[in-house]
Amino acid sequence: MDSSSSSLSSVNIDDMDDLLDINLIIHIKSLISLLKQTFCSECNHLWDGSPSIKTRNGLYMHVEFICSNCGCITHLYSSPQVQDGRRQEINARLELGATLCGLGYNGIIKLLGALNLPPSTHNGNICQEQSMIAAVEEAIAETDGARELTLSGDGAWLTRGHTSVHGVSAMYSTTKHPKILDTTWSSKKCSSGGMEKEMVHEMFCRSLAKYNTTYVSYVGD
Ligand SMILES: [Zn+2]
Repeated sequence: MDSSSSSLSSVNIDDMDDLLDINLIIHIKSLISLLKQTFCSECNHLWDGSPSIKTRNGLYMHVEFICSNCGCITHLYSSPQVQDGRRQEINARLELGATLCGLGYNGIIKLLGALNLPPSTHNGNICQEQSMIAAVEEAIAETDGARELTLSGDGAWLTRGHTSVHGVSAMYSTTKHPKILDTTWSSKKCSSGGMEKEMVHEMFCRSLAKYNTTYVSYVGD
C-alpha cells in the first residue's frame, strides 16, 4: 500500500524518533477505512478487502489485510519486540504497568474489557503471589526437598526519551518446566545493566523471608 509522505519532515530526526515512539489505540474499523483510501501496491486498485488476525498474544496482534481484487497480503505487526527479542514491547509494558498499579490478572482483564481490547488468552508473565509460591514448592519438590534453588532470570528494559529506564525483572526456576518465582520492577535514570544487577540482588535478598528458600546460583543469559 502506498503511504503518503510525512508533513513532519522539518522535525529533527532524534525528536521525530521520540515523537513516533508511542502507542496508539485504534479501532480496527478506522484502520480499514484508512486502508480504503490507499492503493494496493500489487494491483494498483483502490484497496478493498478484509483483515485476518493471524496471531494474538496479550495485547499484541499480527493482522493480515487481504486485497479482495488481487489477493495481495499486507502484514501489520502491532508492536515491536523488546530488546531481548522474546516478547513484544506492548506486553512488557502491560506487565510493567500492572506491577506499578498492583493489578492482578483479574484486574487486567477488567481494564482491557472496559477498553474493548481483546482479552489476553493467557496471563503471560503476570503471575500472582499464589502461583509463584506454588512454583517455588514445585521446584523444591523436583530437587528432592532441598530448599536451595538454582535460578535463571529474564528482564525487559524500556527507555523513555534517552536516559530514563523502566525495568521489570523475573526469576525463573530451572526445573523441567520453568516457572516464575519472583518479579520486581524499577524506574530511574541509569543504565539497564546496572538496574538488572540491582533487581536480581533484591530478589536474592528476600527469598528467605518470602519463601523460606535460598537461591544458591543464578544462570544468566
Ligand atoms: Zn490488490
